[in-house]
Amino acid sequence: MISTALLTQAVDLYIGLGSNLEDPLQQVRQALSELAELPHTELICHSQLYRSDPVGPADQPDFINAVAHLRSQLQPESLLDQLQALEQKHRRVRLQHWGPRTLDLDILLFADLQIHTARLCIPHSQLSVRSFVLYPLQEIAPTLQLPGGRSITELIAQCDRGTLAPVQV
Ligand code: ADP
Ligand code: MG
Repeated sequence: MISTALLTQAVDLYIGLGSNLEDPLQQVRQALSELAELPHTELICHSQLYRSDPVGPADQPDFINAVAHLRSQLQPESLLDQLQALEQKHRRVRLQHWGPRTLDLDILLFADLQIHTARLCIPHSQLSVRSFVLYPLQEIAPTLQLPGGRSITELIAQCDRGTLAPVQV
């Protein structure tokens, strides 16, 4: 049973989605609709889907990433429970058919909270160095200020885009 402990009011938060499953586009699209169905949670918007070259062996699929803006009344740990249940659901499908990489759902930012527990680090520890997080985040939140005072603009200025590009549909 997944807990659904609630805050007194809904807050804005950002989720990073990633997949390099054999059909990663479909994995990320499905995950976006599943995020919209989470209890006590509203999907406000999401970025385009972005593609970047795989790191490591070239015969694995490209990575697909996106960032979603949610408004939720779930407490951070309850949200993590919900996200891990979704990852598990995708992982089960993958294990029957494909290789070893699947859906990753990370809490990037949660209101203006800073959390450092055994289960949760918010803002996400890799947020400031991952182009596939920062560029989609900037697309949907161009004036975002992070807890601690830095802006998305400052972070982007220090992070090369690399091969990251929006998926052409
Ligand atoms: P990664 O995202 O680094 O590839 P995983 O998805 O396997 O790794 O996550 C490993 C653990 O990271 C999770 O069990 C979770 O408890 C922890 N974690 C810490 N901070 C966060 C966060 N902000 N969002 C999601 N998971 C987090
Ligand atoms: Mg993760």
